[in-house]
Amino acid sequence: MIKKLINRLLGKPGPKQRRIGRAHTPRIVTVDEHRIDPTLLSRNAVKVTSTLQQAGYQAFIVGGAVRDLLLGIKPKDFDVATNATPDQVQALFRRSRIIGRRFQIVHVTFYGGREQEIIEVSTFRALVDAIASETLPEGRRMKRAELDTKTHAIDASGRVLRDNVWGSQAEDAERRDFTINAMYYDPAAQTVHDYHHGMEDIRARTLRMIGDPVTRYREDPVRMLRVVRFAAKTGFDIDEATRQPIAGLASLIHNVPSARLFDEMLKLLMSGHAWASLQELRKAGLHKGLLPLLDVALEQPMGERFVQLALDNTDRRVQAGKPVSPGFLFAALLWHHVLQRWSKLREEGEHAIAALNTAMDMVLERQTGQLAIQRRFVTDMRDIWGMQPRFEKRVGRMPFRLLESPRFRAGFDFLHLRCQSGELPAELAEWWQAFQDAAPDQREDLIDSLRAARGPAADGEAPARKKRRRRSPRKSDKVSSRSDTDAGQDANPGRGQPEDS
Ligand code: ATP
Ligand code: MG
Repeated sequence: MIKKLINRLLGKPGPKQRRIGRAHTPRIVTVDEHRIDPTLLSRNAVKVTSTLQQAGYQAFIVGGAVRDLLLGIKPKDFDVATNATPDQVQALFRRSRIIGRRFQIVHVTFYGGREQEIIEVSTFRALVDAIASETLPEGRRMKRAELDTKTHAIDASGRVLRDNVWGSQAEDAERRDFTINAMYYDPAAQTVHDYHHGMEDIRARTLRMIGDPVTRYREDPVRMLRVVRFAAKTGFDIDEATRQPIAGLASLIHNVPSARLFDEMLKLLMSGHAWASLQELRKAGLHKGLLPLLDVALEQPMGERFVQLALDNTDRRVQAGKPVSPGFLFAALLWHHVLQRWSKLREEGEHAIAALNTAMDMVLERQTGQLAIQRRFVTDMRDIWGMQPRFEKRVGRMPFRLLESPRFRAGFDFLHLRCQSGELPAELAEWWQAFQDAAPDQREDLIDSLRAARGPAADGEAPARKKRRRRSPRKSDKVSSRSDTDAGQDANPGRGQPEDS
């Protein structure tokens, strides 16, 4: 530590600069060692690498796809890295376009039947320190001021703002996050180019940051979220030096633009390991910068159960290859906070529906400052939350109108989770399930049977009576501690999520 500090003060190269030299030549891993199954490859990704190679460029499948291939998992998407510039890449592919500002890449689109696959092609890039470092030849060196204004910029905390300085493959490997994410696969030669002992770490099942973890987290605090996501996804251990600085640096998450945080958070929640990732986030104290309101939910057993049920359900769907709805997920994550506010406002005498609207506004407003949930998802969240009181009004034409609502499915699935978590009696979700399943003429009977069970005097839900007085909160409005049944859990797999198509 002291040695590092003295070196830094004297301007001597630190371990990171030394590593640049050491990692200039990759270890070439052949098929008998890496054993990548060619059937897991995307034909389109191979087409992209071969087209680039035939045009005289270097081209490799890179990053998470190589990691997944080495683990025998079919990658969900394929990235390609090349020494061709975005313009040169674009010239080779008809259906391609350059996207991004902070990080220019080329999207090459392929259509096969109704399916569409986008291969992301990025040009080898160099590291901030490598670019400014004295170790580079004169022609490649850039002054910091020039970097800041042209292709590359960092802010006061060390965060990289723009990152479009082309570099060699070795430099490209150096600026990737984890050793297991920095391997390059050449499908033609069937070789893996390993710059940072990624193969060893795959075998040791370890997530290890390339370079000095503190610097790398400062450059891009999102890496703290990424390590959590990969740990949950692969079940790998996080190397101690990579894990240790996270708690102290967690507050840097606040410097990341909220839209980017939202993207990363979405990846994490859609990873198929959302619940495990959330636990890891909390352990690292990272959730405070993302979903600070989540603490409120997780503090109470019923809130925790609700979030766990929602995320477990999502994880099962992702793992089964089914679509999931982000609006539903965020509605679930923030529900107990809404519920708490809602109950309080009603206790203060506000009308149930008005109170719910106020509670939703309050929660969304506080949340948006930290993590900008996209507007279309916020609309879904409002719909799902706003529908909830209507499920408790099982009189007259109301259930029929609710059933016809375009968002009924999501609203019902949400209600189902509330019942499962013990917030509401299981009977309510069971009744709604029966109501949906029943033939139209049987639905009246279901409503009548409720009235009969309640008795005419107890029919407090009748709208005519309700209009005349502001009612005090009913028992059923409050969070009840009734235990749930698991009724409907498997009978209704599409809960709150888009229909399978
Ligand atoms: P996934 O399976 O979730 O797609 P991935 O590792 O492919 O995981 P991507 O976000 O697709 O993640 O990124 C592709 C590659 O780009 C990574 O494997 C890594 O090499 C590099 N990369 C992505 N984000 C960062 C980052 N913030 N810092 C450094 N390298 C990054
Ligand atoms: Mg990827």
